[in-house]
Amino acid sequence: MKKRISFITLLYLIAVTGIAQIANIQVPELEKKHFRNTIRIPDLDGYKTLKCDFHMHTVFSDGIVWPDVRIEEAWEEGLDAIAITDHIEYTPHKPFVGGSFNSSYEIAYQKAKELGIVLIRGAEITRDMPPGHLNVLFVKNIDKINVPDPMGAIMEAKNQGAFIFWNHPCWTAQQPDSCIMFSMHKDLIKKHVISGIEVFNEKEWYPIALHWCLENNLTILGNSDIHDFTSHYYSMEQWHRPMTLVFSKDTASENIREALFAGRTVAWFAKYVAGKEVYLQELFRKSVIVDKPGKTIKGETALTLKNMSDFTFELSSLSVPGKSVVFHPGESISMKVKPDEEFFVTNWFIGADKNLRVRFF
Ligand SMILES: [Zn+2]
Ligand SMILES: [Zn+2]
Repeated sequence: MKKRISFITLLYLIAVTGIAQIANIQVPELEKKHFRNTIRIPDLDGYKTLKCDFHMHTVFSDGIVWPDVRIEEAWEEGLDAIAITDHIEYTPHKPFVGGSFNSSYEIAYQKAKELGIVLIRGAEITRDMPPGHLNVLFVKNIDKINVPDPMGAIMEAKNQGAFIFWNHPCWTAQQPDSCIMFSMHKDLIKKHVISGIEVFNEKEWYPIALHWCLENNLTILGNSDIHDFTSHYYSMEQWHRPMTLVFSKDTASENIREALFAGRTVAWFAKYVAGKEVYLQELFRKSVIVDKPGKTIKGETALTLKNMSDFTFELSSLSVPGKSVVFHPGESISMKVKPDEEFFVTNWFIGADKNLRVRFF
Protein backbone atom coordinates (compact mmCIF):
# COMPACT_ATOMS: atom_id res chain seq x y z
CA MET A 1 0.00 0.00 0.00
CA LYS A 2 2.84 2.36 0.96
CA LYS A 3 4.50 1.74 -2.45
CA ARG A 4 1.28 2.52 -4.30
CA ILE A 5 0.88 5.85 -2.55
CA SER A 6 4.51 6.79 -3.42
CA PHE A 7 3.98 5.99 -7.09
CA ILE A 8 0.79 8.04 -7.24
CA THR A 9 2.63 10.92 -5.55
CA LEU A 10 5.41 10.66 -8.17
CA LEU A 11 2.91 10.78 -11.02
CA TYR A 12 1.39 13.88 -9.46
CA LEU A 13 4.80 15.56 -9.16
CA ILE A 14 5.70 14.78 -12.78
CA ALA A 15 2.38 16.21 -13.94
CA VAL A 16 2.93 19.41 -11.91
CA THR A 17 6.67 19.99 -12.55
CA GLY A 18 6.95 18.71 -16.12
CA ILE A 19 10.05 16.55 -15.39
CA ALA A 20 8.78 13.88 -17.77
CA GLN A 21 9.24 16.19 -20.77
CA ILE A 22 13.02 15.58 -20.68
CA ALA A 23 13.28 12.27 -22.47
CA ASN A 24 16.99 11.43 -22.64
CA ILE A 25 20.07 12.83 -20.92
CA GLN A 26 23.42 11.28 -21.98
CA VAL A 27 26.10 10.60 -19.37
CA PRO A 28 29.19 10.01 -21.58
CA GLU A 29 31.69 10.07 -18.71
CA LEU A 30 30.39 6.60 -17.75
CA GLU A 31 31.67 5.06 -20.97
CA LYS A 32 35.09 3.43 -20.89
CA LYS A 33 37.64 4.88 -23.32
CA HIS A 34 39.50 2.20 -25.25
CA PHE A 35 43.18 2.61 -26.16
CA ARG A 36 45.54 0.45 -28.14
CA ASN A 37 48.55 -0.62 -26.10
CA THR A 38 51.94 -0.28 -27.78
CA ILE A 39 54.25 -3.24 -27.33
CA ARG A 40 57.88 -2.14 -27.67
CA ILE A 41 59.79 -4.92 -29.40
CA PRO A 42 62.50 -4.07 -31.97
CA ASP A 43 62.23 -5.14 -35.59
CA LEU A 44 64.96 -7.39 -36.98
CA ASP A 45 67.12 -6.59 -40.02
CA GLY A 46 64.78 -6.82 -43.01
CA TYR A 47 61.75 -7.93 -40.98
CA LYS A 48 58.97 -6.43 -38.91
CA THR A 49 58.34 -8.05 -35.53
CA LEU A 50 54.63 -8.94 -35.44
CA LYS A 51 52.91 -9.77 -32.18
CA CYS A 52 50.64 -12.73 -32.82
CA ASP A 53 48.43 -15.24 -31.01
CA PHE A 54 47.52 -18.28 -33.10
CA HIS A 55 45.33 -20.21 -30.66
CA MET A 56 42.04 -19.07 -29.10
CA HIS A 57 38.40 -20.07 -28.75
CA THR A 58 34.94 -18.48 -28.96
CA VAL A 59 31.35 -19.62 -28.32
CA PHE A 60 31.62 -21.52 -31.61
CA SER A 61 33.52 -24.18 -29.62
CA ASP A 62 34.03 -24.10 -25.82
CA GLY A 63 35.01 -20.43 -25.39
CA ILE A 64 32.73 -17.93 -23.66
CA VAL A 65 33.06 -14.91 -25.98
CA TRP A 66 31.57 -13.86 -29.31
CA PRO A 67 34.19 -13.77 -32.14
CA ASP A 68 34.26 -9.92 -32.34
CA VAL A 69 35.56 -9.77 -28.77
CA ARG A 70 38.75 -11.59 -29.80
CA ILE A 71 39.47 -8.79 -32.30
CA GLU A 72 38.76 -6.02 -29.78
CA GLU A 73 41.02 -7.68 -27.20
CA ALA A 74 43.83 -8.08 -29.75
CA TRP A 75 43.54 -4.42 -30.79
CA GLU A 76 43.61 -3.13 -27.20
CA GLU A 77 46.54 -5.34 -26.24
CA GLY A 78 48.66 -4.22 -29.20
CA LEU A 79 48.65 -7.45 -31.23
CA ASP A 80 49.04 -7.46 -35.02
CA ALA A 81 47.62 -10.85 -36.05
CA ILE A 82 45.47 -13.58 -34.54
CA ALA A 83 43.88 -16.87 -35.50
CA ILE A 84 40.59 -17.96 -33.96
CA THR A 85 40.95 -21.72 -33.73
CA ASP A 86 37.73 -23.23 -32.48
CA HIS A 87 37.66 -26.98 -31.85
CA ILE A 88 36.20 -28.96 -34.73
CA GLU A 89 35.26 -32.00 -32.66
CA TYR A 90 34.10 -30.26 -29.48
CA THR A 91 31.30 -27.69 -29.84
CA PRO A 92 29.25 -27.69 -26.60
CA HIS A 93 27.43 -24.41 -27.43
CA LYS A 94 26.36 -25.58 -30.89
CA PRO A 95 22.62 -26.03 -29.96
CA PHE A 96 22.52 -22.37 -28.87
CA VAL A 97 24.68 -20.63 -31.50
CA GLY A 98 24.28 -22.83 -34.61
CA GLY A 99 26.55 -21.77 -37.46
CA SER A 100 29.23 -23.71 -39.32
CA PHE A 101 32.91 -24.31 -38.53
CA ASN A 102 33.74 -21.18 -40.55
CA SER A 103 31.34 -18.93 -38.58
CA SER A 104 33.79 -17.53 -36.01
CA TYR A 105 36.14 -16.37 -38.80
CA GLU A 106 33.32 -14.95 -40.91
CA ILE A 107 31.76 -13.04 -37.98
CA ALA A 108 35.08 -11.59 -36.76
CA TYR A 109 36.35 -10.67 -40.24
CA GLN A 110 34.53 -7.31 -40.50
CA LYS A 111 35.72 -6.14 -37.08
CA ALA A 112 39.28 -7.25 -37.91
CA LYS A 113 39.19 -5.16 -41.10
CA GLU A 114 37.83 -2.17 -39.20
CA LEU A 115 40.52 -2.28 -36.50
CA GLY A 116 43.44 -3.34 -38.71
CA ILE A 117 44.01 -6.74 -37.10
CA VAL A 118 45.15 -9.54 -39.41
CA LEU A 119 42.70 -12.42 -38.93
CA ILE A 120 43.84 -15.85 -40.07
CA ARG A 121 41.28 -18.57 -40.72
CA GLY A 122 42.10 -21.51 -38.46
CA ALA A 123 40.75 -24.39 -36.41
CA GLU A 124 41.85 -26.93 -33.80
CA ILE A 125 41.73 -30.60 -34.77
CA THR A 126 40.90 -32.12 -31.39
CA ARG A 127 41.70 -35.84 -31.08
CA ASP A 128 42.96 -38.33 -28.51
CA MET A 129 46.75 -38.73 -28.28
CA PRO A 130 48.25 -39.41 -30.74
CA PRO A 131 47.95 -37.05 -32.57
CA GLY A 132 46.32 -35.00 -29.78
CA HIS A 133 45.39 -31.44 -30.68
CA LEU A 134 46.71 -29.76 -33.83
CA ASN A 135 46.05 -26.22 -35.01
CA VAL A 136 45.62 -25.65 -38.72
CA LEU A 137 46.10 -22.07 -40.01
CA PHE A 138 45.41 -20.44 -43.40
CA VAL A 139 42.80 -23.07 -44.28
CA LYS A 140 40.10 -22.32 -46.85
CA ASN A 141 37.07 -24.29 -45.65
CA ILE A 142 37.01 -25.73 -42.11
CA ASP A 143 33.76 -27.67 -42.72
CA LYS A 144 35.69 -30.00 -45.05
CA ILE A 145 38.19 -30.84 -42.27
CA ASN A 146 35.36 -32.27 -40.15
CA VAL A 147 35.92 -35.94 -41.05
CA PRO A 148 36.02 -38.96 -38.68
CA ASP A 149 39.57 -40.19 -39.42
CA PRO A 150 42.28 -38.03 -37.73
CA MET A 151 44.73 -38.54 -40.63
CA GLY A 152 41.95 -37.66 -43.09
CA ALA A 153 41.35 -34.37 -41.24
CA ILE A 154 45.07 -33.54 -41.09
CA MET A 155 45.65 -34.30 -44.77
CA GLU A 156 42.58 -32.30 -45.83
CA ALA A 157 43.97 -29.27 -43.95
CA LYS A 158 47.40 -29.85 -45.54
CA ASN A 159 45.79 -30.02 -49.00
CA GLN A 160 44.15 -26.66 -48.27
CA GLY A 161 47.64 -25.20 -47.75
CA ALA A 162 47.56 -25.18 -43.94
CA PHE A 163 50.43 -24.39 -41.61
CA ILE A 164 49.98 -27.13 -38.99
CA PHE A 165 51.39 -27.19 -35.46
CA TRP A 166 51.12 -29.51 -32.47
CA ASN A 167 49.35 -27.85 -29.53
CA HIS A 168 50.24 -28.21 -25.83
CA PRO A 169 52.21 -31.46 -26.36
CA CYS A 170 52.83 -31.99 -22.64
CA TRP A 171 49.28 -31.22 -21.46
CA THR A 172 48.79 -33.57 -18.51
CA ALA A 173 45.21 -34.46 -19.58
CA GLN A 174 46.75 -36.24 -22.58
CA GLN A 175 50.23 -37.15 -21.28
CA PRO A 176 49.82 -37.52 -17.48
CA ASP A 177 53.07 -39.29 -16.55
CA SER A 178 55.64 -38.22 -19.13
CA CYS A 179 55.87 -36.22 -22.31
CA ILE A 180 56.92 -38.10 -25.41
CA MET A 181 56.75 -37.53 -29.12
CA PHE A 182 54.77 -40.39 -30.70
CA SER A 183 55.80 -42.11 -33.92
CA MET A 184 52.78 -40.51 -35.62
CA HIS A 185 54.22 -37.06 -34.84
CA LYS A 186 57.70 -38.09 -36.01
CA ASP A 187 56.23 -39.32 -39.25
CA LEU A 188 54.16 -36.17 -39.79
CA ILE A 189 57.21 -34.00 -39.06
CA LYS A 190 59.34 -36.02 -41.49
CA LYS A 191 56.70 -35.55 -44.18
CA HIS A 192 56.57 -31.76 -43.47
CA VAL A 193 52.92 -32.01 -42.43
CA ILE A 194 53.52 -30.80 -38.84
CA SER A 195 55.70 -27.68 -39.12
CA GLY A 196 55.71 -26.34 -35.56
CA ILE A 197 55.05 -27.03 -31.86
CA GLU A 198 53.73 -24.88 -29.03
CA VAL A 199 56.51 -24.54 -26.46
CA PHE A 200 54.11 -22.42 -24.44
CA ASN A 201 50.32 -22.75 -24.07
CA GLU A 202 47.98 -20.82 -21.75
CA LYS A 203 50.18 -20.80 -18.64
CA GLU A 204 52.34 -23.88 -19.28
CA TRP A 205 55.86 -23.96 -20.69
CA TYR A 206 57.34 -27.16 -22.14
CA PRO A 207 61.17 -27.02 -22.33
CA ILE A 208 61.23 -30.44 -24.02
CA ALA A 209 59.12 -29.02 -26.88
CA LEU A 210 61.74 -26.32 -27.44
CA HIS A 211 64.33 -29.10 -27.70
CA TRP A 212 62.16 -30.93 -30.29
CA CYS A 213 61.69 -27.73 -32.31
CA LEU A 214 65.43 -27.03 -32.46
CA GLU A 215 66.31 -30.67 -33.17
CA ASN A 216 63.80 -30.94 -36.05
CA ASN A 217 64.02 -27.36 -37.34
CA LEU A 218 60.37 -26.69 -36.45
CA THR A 219 58.66 -23.38 -35.84
CA ILE A 220 58.53 -22.30 -32.19
CA LEU A 221 55.13 -21.06 -31.01
CA GLY A 222 53.70 -19.58 -27.82
CA ASN A 223 49.95 -18.98 -27.69
CA SER A 224 47.21 -18.18 -25.19
CA ASP A 225 44.60 -20.88 -26.03
CA ILE A 226 42.26 -18.42 -24.32
CA HIS A 227 38.66 -19.51 -23.66
CA ASP A 228 37.78 -16.73 -21.17
CA PHE A 229 38.21 -12.95 -21.68
CA THR A 230 41.98 -12.34 -21.78
CA SER A 231 41.65 -9.54 -19.19
CA HIS A 232 39.85 -11.91 -16.80
CA TYR A 233 42.38 -14.68 -17.22
CA TYR A 234 45.78 -12.97 -17.43
CA SER A 235 47.43 -10.53 -15.04
CA MET A 236 47.48 -7.75 -17.63
CA GLU A 237 48.65 -5.01 -15.23
CA GLN A 238 52.02 -6.71 -14.97
CA TRP A 239 52.28 -8.84 -18.12
CA HIS A 240 50.85 -9.32 -21.57
CA ARG A 241 49.19 -12.45 -22.91
CA PRO A 242 51.60 -15.14 -24.19
CA MET A 243 52.39 -14.63 -27.86
CA THR A 244 54.38 -15.70 -30.87
CA LEU A 245 56.65 -12.99 -32.24
CA VAL A 246 56.81 -13.42 -36.01
CA PHE A 247 59.57 -11.83 -38.11
CA SER A 248 57.74 -11.05 -41.32
CA LYS A 249 58.34 -8.80 -44.34
CA ASP A 250 55.08 -7.01 -43.47
CA THR A 251 51.60 -7.67 -42.09
CA ALA A 252 50.26 -9.33 -45.27
CA SER A 253 48.72 -12.67 -44.38
CA GLU A 254 50.74 -14.54 -47.04
CA ASN A 255 53.98 -13.10 -45.62
CA ILE A 256 53.03 -14.20 -42.09
CA ARG A 257 52.44 -17.65 -43.57
CA GLU A 258 55.86 -17.53 -45.29
CA ALA A 259 57.56 -16.50 -42.01
CA LEU A 260 55.85 -19.34 -40.10
CA PHE A 261 56.96 -21.96 -42.63
CA ALA A 262 60.48 -20.45 -42.54
CA GLY A 263 60.55 -20.72 -38.72
CA ARG A 264 61.17 -17.00 -38.10
CA THR A 265 59.49 -16.82 -34.67
CA VAL A 266 60.13 -16.73 -30.95
CA ALA A 267 57.73 -17.40 -28.08
CA TRP A 268 57.24 -14.70 -25.42
CA PHE A 269 55.39 -15.49 -22.19
CA ALA A 270 55.51 -13.28 -19.04
CA LYS A 271 59.22 -12.49 -18.54
CA TYR A 272 60.40 -15.52 -20.57
CA VAL A 273 61.52 -15.74 -24.18
CA ALA A 274 62.26 -19.01 -26.01
CA GLY A 275 63.62 -19.43 -29.51
CA LYS A 276 66.56 -19.86 -31.84
CA GLU A 277 69.78 -18.24 -30.65
CA VAL A 278 70.16 -16.09 -33.78
CA TYR A 279 66.84 -14.30 -33.18
CA LEU A 280 67.29 -13.91 -29.43
CA GLN A 281 70.78 -12.50 -29.94
CA GLU A 282 69.50 -9.85 -32.40
CA LEU A 283 66.48 -9.01 -30.23
CA PHE A 284 68.81 -8.51 -27.26
CA ARG A 285 71.27 -6.34 -29.20
CA LYS A 286 68.49 -4.10 -30.50
CA SER A 287 66.67 -3.89 -27.16
CA VAL A 288 69.64 -3.01 -24.91
CA ILE A 289 71.45 0.15 -25.93
CA VAL A 290 74.77 1.22 -24.41
CA ASP A 291 73.77 4.77 -23.58
CA LYS A 292 76.94 6.29 -22.10
CA PRO A 293 80.19 4.32 -22.20
CA GLY A 294 82.27 5.62 -19.27
CA LYS A 295 85.94 5.43 -18.37
CA THR A 296 87.85 2.18 -17.97
CA ILE A 297 89.40 1.94 -14.52
CA LYS A 298 91.34 -1.13 -13.31
CA GLY A 299 90.12 -3.17 -16.31
CA GLU A 300 86.45 -2.34 -15.79
CA THR A 301 84.33 0.02 -17.91
CA ALA A 302 81.37 1.90 -16.45
CA LEU A 303 78.35 1.50 -18.73
CA THR A 304 74.90 3.04 -18.71
CA LEU A 305 72.54 0.61 -20.40
CA LYS A 306 69.03 1.43 -21.52
CA ASN A 307 66.32 -1.20 -22.09
CA MET A 308 64.37 0.16 -25.07
CA SER A 309 61.94 -2.78 -25.11
CA ASP A 310 59.13 -4.38 -23.10
CA PHE A 311 61.31 -7.41 -22.41
CA THR A 312 62.67 -8.14 -18.94
CA PHE A 313 66.30 -9.28 -18.77
CA GLU A 314 67.73 -11.19 -15.82
CA LEU A 315 71.49 -11.01 -16.31
CA SER A 316 73.99 -13.15 -14.47
CA SER A 317 77.77 -12.80 -14.98
CA LEU A 318 79.64 -15.91 -16.10
CA SER A 319 82.96 -14.76 -14.65
CA VAL A 320 81.98 -12.89 -11.46
CA PRO A 321 80.06 -15.20 -9.07
CA GLY A 322 76.95 -13.60 -7.57
CA LYS A 323 76.97 -10.64 -9.95
CA SER A 324 73.45 -10.35 -11.34
CA VAL A 325 70.97 -7.69 -12.30
CA VAL A 326 67.28 -7.57 -13.29
CA PHE A 327 66.67 -5.13 -16.11
CA HIS A 328 63.01 -4.07 -16.50
CA PRO A 329 61.26 -2.57 -19.56
CA GLY A 330 62.28 1.03 -20.27
CA GLU A 331 64.81 1.07 -17.40
CA SER A 332 68.35 2.51 -17.42
CA ILE A 333 71.02 0.85 -15.30
CA SER A 334 74.67 1.57 -14.59
CA MET A 335 77.09 -1.31 -14.39
CA LYS A 336 80.85 -1.90 -14.45
CA VAL A 337 81.90 -4.66 -16.84
CA LYS A 338 85.18 -6.19 -17.95
CA PRO A 339 85.85 -6.03 -21.72
CA ASP A 340 85.48 -9.81 -22.15
CA GLU A 341 82.77 -10.30 -19.51
CA GLU A 342 79.83 -12.45 -20.60
CA PHE A 343 76.39 -12.73 -19.04
CA PHE A 344 73.68 -15.36 -19.13
CA VAL A 345 70.17 -14.02 -19.70
CA THR A 346 68.68 -16.50 -17.27
CA ASN A 347 65.06 -15.96 -18.39
CA TRP A 348 65.80 -16.29 -22.13
CA PHE A 349 66.02 -19.86 -23.50
CA ILE A 350 67.87 -21.09 -26.59
CA GLY A 351 67.50 -24.72 -25.51
CA ALA A 352 65.57 -26.78 -22.97
CA ASP A 353 68.17 -25.95 -20.30
CA LYS A 354 70.34 -23.45 -22.13
CA ASN A 355 70.28 -19.67 -21.63
CA LEU A 356 71.30 -16.97 -24.08
CA ARG A 357 74.86 -15.68 -23.55
CA VAL A 358 75.49 -11.98 -24.21
CA ARG A 359 78.26 -9.39 -23.95
CA PHE A 360 78.27 -5.61 -24.21
CA PHE A 361 81.50 -5.11 -26.20
ZN1 LIG B 1 43.72 -28.12 -27.33
ZN1 LIG C 1 42.64 -24.84 -27.82
